[in-house]
Amino acid sequence: MATTSRPQRPYKNLEAFRRRILLCPNSWDKRHPNKWPCLLCGGRGWDYHPGDQIDPVEGSRHRRHCECPDCLGSGEGPRKAVLEAYRKEIGKYEIAKHKYIQLEGAKKKALAKLTKEEILALKLLGV
Ligand SMILES: [Zn+2]
Repeated sequence: MATTSRPQRPYKNLEAFRRRILLCPNSWDKRHPNKWPCLLCGGRGWDYHPGDQIDPVEGSRHRRHCECPDCLGSGEGPRKAVLEAYRKEIGKYEIAKHKYIQLEGAKKKALAKLTKEEILALKLLGV
């Protein structure tokens, strides 16, 4: 029988989601106490210039930085935007969980109609 794994909740709570957004979560809290990060730049306030590619030897060492257009370099964003993104992610999880529960229920109902021999035959066939 084809098995699908139960969907896992991606984030325990809003704080776990906020910390996942941040590129440097440990230093963020010291620099921006009680603030919310910009979703576009991950709280960094800048990104690499799109024209500068990663050098195979030097890496990103000589790449230019651009100010984030959303937060204008502060790295901070509105709590509302983070909350909406979090709710969107949790909504996706809830839909996947609901589908999984429905599928498992349908499987149980179908198996309940079969005899033990039929179930054994299905297991042996790897269905
Ligand atoms: Zn930003």
